[in-house]
Amino acid sequence: MSESFDLVAIGGGSGGLAVAQRAAEYGARVALVEQARLGGTCVNVGCVPKKVMWNAASLGHALEDAREYGFRIEVSGRHDWALLKEKRDAYLRRLNDIYARNLDSRRIHLVRGPARFLGPRTVVAGGEVLEARHVVIATGGQPSVPQLPGAQLGITSDGFFELAQCPARTAIVGSGYIAVELAGMLAALGSQVTLFARHDSVLRRFDEMLQQATVESLTAAGVALRWRSVPAAVEGTEGAVQLRTRDGVVHGPFDSLIWAVGREPATAELGLAAAGIEPDAGGFVPTDRFQETRVQQVYAIGDVTGREPLTPVAIAAGRRLADRVFGRMAGRHLDYGNIPTVVFTHPPLGTCGLTESQARQVHGDTVRVYRSEFVPLYHAMTAAKPKARIKLITAGAEERVVGCHVAGPGADELLQGFAVAIHMGATKRDFDDTVAIHPTLAEELVTLR
Ligand SMILES: Cc1cc2nc3c(=O)[nH]c(=O)nc-3n(C[C@H](O)[C@H](O)[C@H](O)COP(=O)(O)OP(=O)(O)OC[C@H]3O[C@@H](n4cnc5c(N)ncnc54)[C@H](O)[C@@H]3O)c2cc1C
Repeated sequence: MSESFDLVAIGGGSGGLAVAQRAAEYGARVALVEQARLGGTCVNVGCVPKKVMWNAASLGHALEDAREYGFRIEVSGRHDWALLKEKRDAYLRRLNDIYARNLDSRRIHLVRGPARFLGPRTVVAGGEVLEARHVVIATGGQPSVPQLPGAQLGITSDGFFELAQCPARTAIVGSGYIAVELAGMLAALGSQVTLFARHDSVLRRFDEMLQQATVESLTAAGVALRWRSVPAAVEGTEGAVQLRTRDGVVHGPFDSLIWAVGREPATAELGLAAAGIEPDAGGFVPTDRFQETRVQQVYAIGDVTGREPLTPVAIAAGRRLADRVFGRMAGRHLDYGNIPTVVFTHPPLGTCGLTESQARQVHGDTVRVYRSEFVPLYHAMTAAKPKARIKLITAGAEERVVGCHVAGPGADELLQGFAVAIHMGATKRDFDDTVAIHPTLAEELVTLR
């Protein structure tokens, strides 16, 4: 026996929940299939628990600084990781329940279990056969583990959130944002961290200024950086692992080794062939600008599409899709340009638009770059003098702002407003004509010369 719906969403993460809920608000009859915990990567093993750990690490830094601000406190250096984990996990369970209640209140039929296509718009899950006018694939992805001898002795970012204690010595393999974020947090919470990067920098897709800022902040935090280190094998036993790199050097031992070498789409078990969908070489589901796959009325959103793997992107794509299909907003779709994002290092990084080298490729000689490098007022009182860095990139005679990059305290919160301005096509003149807020780090962005 099968049941019919207007929409079946496969995956109860950021994208799936967003499209399902928005469609239900328009009166669509919706089913959502989730094989694990509601909320997906972001809520359970991504943004949310990560931000809790980043907050803890920020407090660690603040406690150090507090003495320089006149507080007579003893920072023992002991952090109760187990207590934080218990509270963090309890909070996540509350979020899982809230998501279930939200689905319930919108009369969305929740099916628990892995979904598999039987036909283009027929899905089987949890013993039910679901027929739909529209199907959205929102299955996200999982961390990659390299095919190397002993690789299973390492963990991934998922495993990081399972750690019962802070590892005394941690190896992190990778150089993307997850690698540098975990490195910074672990170092601040007491681990001795070594980061192994394949090339000679981190965050290679980010503006060079941000790469440089991150190398400096990780070094200042005591993270040992090993450049041009390509893993060949993991040896030893759990809790005392060693990493052998291709140059024959054996590193370690480490209490924990974390693979942060990228993520792969969760499409292998979906039976895409039965739907008539062919994934690309990386396993991602190709879509057009309306999130539609090559099969009519079958769509994909979020990480599974391989485009801008960020929570707000998955949510925005899902909501716009529901607006268009069920809300009569013809033509509505997500514009993937100028997506702002933050890297939660210490200090955080904020970035929106083109890097300097991308801007030069796209806009050639019309590019102008404005920079500032300074010690923020906060650090006037501290012995350490980490520099904040700001870069604004403009293009064309009208000097439209095409890139904005910030490394410094508060970069995470200040960027959202600037992203609105950039989205609206602000020019350097608009920035200059905006009165500064003093004394802040953000004011530097409107006083650049
Ligand atoms: C450590 C880490 C930190 C991150 N930090 C940030 C951050 O700070 N900011 C940010 O914007 N983004 C961050 N991200 C990225 C963000 O989590 C993802 O971009 C976002 O979760 C993608 O949403 P999604 O809906 O595409 O997929 P997901 O959230 O992964 O949801 C997919 C869901 O589908 C389910 N599923 C998979 N296959 C099936 C199936 N066959 N049947 C039924 N269900 C299935 C999965 O169980 C999962 O719940 C982070 C990610 C990680 C790993």
